[in-house]
Amino acid sequence: MVHAPHPAPGGPTGQSHAPVMVLFDIDGTLLHTTGAGVRALKRMFATEFDCPDPFDGYSFSGRTDPGILRDAFQRLYGRGPTSEETSRALGSYLRFLEDDLATCDVKVLPGVGPLLERLAADGIPTGLATGNVEEGARLKLSAGGILHYFRFGGFGSDAEHRGELTRTGIARGRALAGPVPDHSVFIVGDSPLDVSAARYAGVRCLAVMTGWTPREEMEAAGPDLLLDDLSDLPTVMRFLVPG
Ligand SMILES: [Mg+2]
Repeated sequence: MVHAPHPAPGGPTGQSHAPVMVLFDIDGTLLHTTGAGVRALKRMFATEFDCPDPFDGYSFSGRTDPGILRDAFQRLYGRGPTSEETSRALGSYLRFLEDDLATCDVKVLPGVGPLLERLAADGIPTGLATGNVEEGARLKLSAGGILHYFRFGGFGSDAEHRGELTRTGIARGRALAGPVPDHSVFIVGDSPLDVSAARYAGVRCLAVMTGWTPREEMEAAGPDLLLDDLSDLPTVMRFLVPG
């Protein structure tokens, strides 16, 4: 679990509002690792399994780490990974990821910093709903300098199914923040799979165009709000905390 000190509800700005909770996807929503995650996966397959790139033409957007592993094993061997292969693959992936993130250029996306500051200042519980395994999430957010904003989350290490890990993240947020109603829980993501995960969990979705999905596909997914990015702070806050 990602833990960090966080202001209590009704924090420094003294704003009071009905309970709200926000859970963010990472890749394409909060930041771009400029390929570090994919490079680490490819190095892991080459090193641990002595196999060529299994990802030709593969779309990583919105996929969970265990789902990506399963798909790669299906492509390579026509079966899913054993539990031993999964733990070996993830351990190796995380070592390569940490190595790559130490030197690559991690870009925090437009508006993310000010939005996270505002949510913290307003005491709004802020977490993660990400397909990254928890340690991978920690490494990426730490490289972007934004790890300290997140108190809880659902991760690829909790479930292969994105809707299930989203439910887990929401349940952990409620365990910390109390009974936030479904209509005041927001998933922020960049892919149609974030939108469907929010629907699966019965909560709302703010989608952004900072990922890899064409606009018409994002619109067809039917998020509650679709923005180019998170840089229009007043619009984002009006959506999250109406009135
Ligand atoms: Mg994403």
